[in-house]
Amino acid sequence: MASRSGNGQQTALSARFFQKLASGVPGVLFTYWLSADKESHRYPFISEQVRESFGIDPAVLNENADAMFSVIHPEDAEAIMESIAESAFNLTTWHYRGRLRLQNGEYEWFEVQSEPERQSDGSTIWYGQFHNIQHYKNLEQSLRESEAEFSFQAGFQRLIARLSTEFINLGFGTIDQCIDELLRSIGTFFKVDRAYLYCFSDDYSVMTNTHEWCRDGVPALIDTQQEVSIDSFHWWQEQIEGMVSGSRVVFIEDVDRLPREAAPERALLQEQGVSSMFCVPIRVRGRVTGFFGVDSLRRRTWRLDQADLLIIVSGLLSGALERNRLEEELLNQSIRDPLTGLHNRRYLMPRLDEMLGRSNRRGERFALAIFDIDHFKKINDSIGHLGGDYILQRFADILISQTRSMDVVARFGGEEFIVVFSAVEHGDVRQLVQRILEAVHEERFVFDDDEIPVTVSAGVAGIEEFVDRPASPDALIAGADHRLYLAKQAGRDCLVDVSGTLRI
Ligand code: GH3
Ligand code: MG
Ligand code: MG
Repeated sequence: MASRSGNGQQTALSARFFQKLASGVPGVLFTYWLSADKESHRYPFISEQVRESFGIDPAVLNENADAMFSVIHPEDAEAIMESIAESAFNLTTWHYRGRLRLQNGEYEWFEVQSEPERQSDGSTIWYGQFHNIQHYKNLEQSLRESEAEFSFQAGFQRLIARLSTEFINLGFGTIDQCIDELLRSIGTFFKVDRAYLYCFSDDYSVMTNTHEWCRDGVPALIDTQQEVSIDSFHWWQEQIEGMVSGSRVVFIEDVDRLPREAAPERALLQEQGVSSMFCVPIRVRGRVTGFFGVDSLRRRTWRLDQADLLIIVSGLLSGALERNRLEEELLNQSIRDPLTGLHNRRYLMPRLDEMLGRSNRRGERFALAIFDIDHFKKINDSIGHLGGDYILQRFADILISQTRSMDVVARFGGEEFIVVFSAVEHGDVRQLVQRILEAVHEERFVFDDDEIPVTVSAGVAGIEEFVDRPASPDALIAGADHRLYLAKQAGRDCLVDVSGTLRI
């Protein structure tokens, strides 16, 4: 079979013999001949299967191998030629895997293995076979996919476990940091460009972006997304409705293909460069209070279970926000006086400590005033305890309206209040306290149609008075309290500070 010359009958006989033998072999048996100058090649023998598989007549291949080479996948052709050349040069096994085009036009993977033998004229003959390995390729592929799937799931579980631990160990006041970290981790894991959290107003007409993570180089939107009215976005309103009443996720796979009625939304998202997005509602105490979302600026295919995974993330966020709100409420309860809504002593004392610390380090000035309602027992006696409570509330309102947000206003005891004026000079404090007492004069306290005369006395102490003795919250309060006593002694409805008594 080294050449077509020789005994024709014997060749035909052995051809029949080989064809018979080859028909029982899964795959294609062949001998492949390549001339010394590599200009011509043919398959002196090739099994009948080539006809069935590739639609090529073996007789054609007996004359010229080109037809066989024409079904090699273009991407594999060069490497196959190299492998043949190498096998011919070194006389090593020709082994290769590549795709061949079947009669139905589809490519499948084949593996060829054959041994070369140099002929006396310098040509080479390979004896070998090739067979379909598509089945193994499919297996290999699905194995790779399931491995990738497994590592994706495992990665996701690890991520959720880590974030849950962070949320469980959430220290008070660190929730914002934790949410930022969650958005970063989730955004990186899902390979999105932006991950964010929005909260709704109570009537769902306004939304605000509270937290945002952006991949490097992706512009932040948070500043433009504060108190955004959604009145003109009807389609989006419907989606919110779906989130609120049906806990549905909003999934926009391709912004360009949003329905016609979503034209304003499409324009806005296109302006923001968003190509696709996913939003999942956030629920706190059974009520949807906002949503968590991710944006992709590139077109991308999403995993089918993406929504489920993002729902897990939003559950985590919901739980953390719920706990945070509870803690905030508890904390608020513990540092506020329920009757007046003012801070209480528990809040005041550490603030005073802090201010003293700042004063020691940076010389920041502040002053403390104690206010005590005059003859409050009599007020209680004349209009009852509820009436007394009403007076306390009205006086608390006056204190809030007459002070700045940086001042601390606290109900210290029954009808005694403390205001810590921060960053003020002595003369200014006197004026501020005077203004409060004047405001009490101007206020009409009416209870059960009776106008109740109310006056207040005050004692003031400033931090600058503590030059030769150590200042402490207690010493400061005691100083102011002593002056309050002096004010009462002086006939009430007045203030006493370091420079004496001031009548209103
Ligand atoms: P003075 O001018 O010397 O301050 O006289 P006063 O009657 O205001 O003095 P005192 O401090 O002896 O009385 C305070 C009263 O305030 C006693 C108490 O019954 C009443 N009181 C304390 N807490 C409350 C409260 O929460 N509500 C009401 N209605 N009264 C309270
Ligand atoms: Mg009193
Ligand atoms: Mg009192």
